[in-house]
Amino acid sequence: MPRLDQPLLVLVTHVQAPAGYELTPASAQVLALARSLTSGPVDAVSLVDAPDAQALAAHGVRTILLPGLGGRSARPSAVAADAVLACLGADDYGALLLVSTYRGREIASRLAALTEAGAVVDAAGVEVVDSGLRVSKTALAGSWTTSLSITRGTPIIAVRSGAFEDEPAPAATAPSVVPVDVAFSPEADAIQVVSSVGAAGSGDGRPALADASTVVVGGRGTDGDFGIVEELADALSGAVGATRVASDEGWVPRSIQIGQTGLSVSPNLYVGLGVSGAIHHTVGMQSSAHIVAVCDDPDAPIFEIADFGVVGDLFDVVPQALEEIRRIRSGQ
Ligand SMILES: Cc1cc2nc3c(=O)[nH]c(=O)nc-3n(C[C@H](O)[C@H](O)[C@H](O)COP(=O)(O)OP(=O)(O)OC[C@H]3O[C@@H](n4cnc5c(N)ncnc54)[C@H](O)[C@@H]3O)c2cc1C
Repeated sequence: MPRLDQPLLVLVTHVQAPAGYELTPASAQVLALARSLTSGPVDAVSLVDAPDAQALAAHGVRTILLPGLGGRSARPSAVAADAVLACLGADDYGALLLVSTYRGREIASRLAALTEAGAVVDAAGVEVVDSGLRVSKTALAGSWTTSLSITRGTPIIAVRSGAFEDEPAPAATAPSVVPVDVAFSPEADAIQVVSSVGAAGSGDGRPALADASTVVVGGRGTDGDFGIVEELADALSGAVGATRVASDEGWVPRSIQIGQTGLSVSPNLYVGLGVSGAIHHTVGMQSSAHIVAVCDDPDAPIFEIADFGVVGDLFDVVPQALEEIRRIRSGQ
């Protein structure tokens, strides 16, 4: 497989764990992707001041760049973009890769505007073609796959979580940590973070939606009873997601909405409960490896993409599934 010669830069994200910051699985996937694209080194930018050096070493990172935020929160995308921009000057990078979350997409767009470079978000495939990067992503609500070459500036590529395997480097590195001075733009101080409340998945003991290998989603068919969705998610060690109807109704926070105007997820297992499979929803989950649907309407479009479908009332079906999962788990 052809590779670039230039170093690559990855903006990595962390989650707060009891023992300190942990590298997110999605960032680990992007680091593995970066290593596969270059014969040169891979550097990481961290916006937390105590990054997960052990995981970054295991993923073959040469240098951890730590931009100085001057006491600012890294949450506003203008702050993050200025910080990453300063780090892009540390070497002749062949591309910047990051995770395609809401925030990742915002940072990518801002950086593209600041550097006048091409950016692609929601990338599902990246390869080296003719000494450049060729990126693939789905378009028109998933009905087409498009291939794009970035022809201007240092390419900025936001990669879908779950689109690539996380693989540690064959040999761990001993990354050096390099502080980077940042010249902040006036926009960076236009917003000040007064307080922030953890999104679903960051305080409820469940994995974060973007990183979860199992996602259980509740739709209108739950009629607002997300207890059963949470129960199944917990039995499968998964995260809870929702359709827009469920978040519009106020049954769940907007932060767990999946779809065109929500998050994109690519878990190993997606389970939809009382979800019809409208295209605005499926565009955010159809790249899941295995799709299971429980819906009482046999004509619901979700069954067209489901690997396993149950036509029935979720309040009958899910308790039976839970009983069976618990029986298997207990080894009876
Ligand atoms: C511009 C735009 C953007 C949008 N963005 C998004 C987005 O990001 N995410 C998103 O999800 N939607 C989005 N939507 C809305 C989308 O079009 C659908 O309306 C929505 O996804 C439907 O949600 P649902 O499947 O929960 O509800 P419904 O379509 O009403 O489906 C509920 C299903 O549950 C079944 N059901 C009912 N009771 C039970 C039961 N007890 N057991 C089993 N099945 C049962 C019903 O028969 C039905 O098939 C967007 C729409 C627009 C116009």
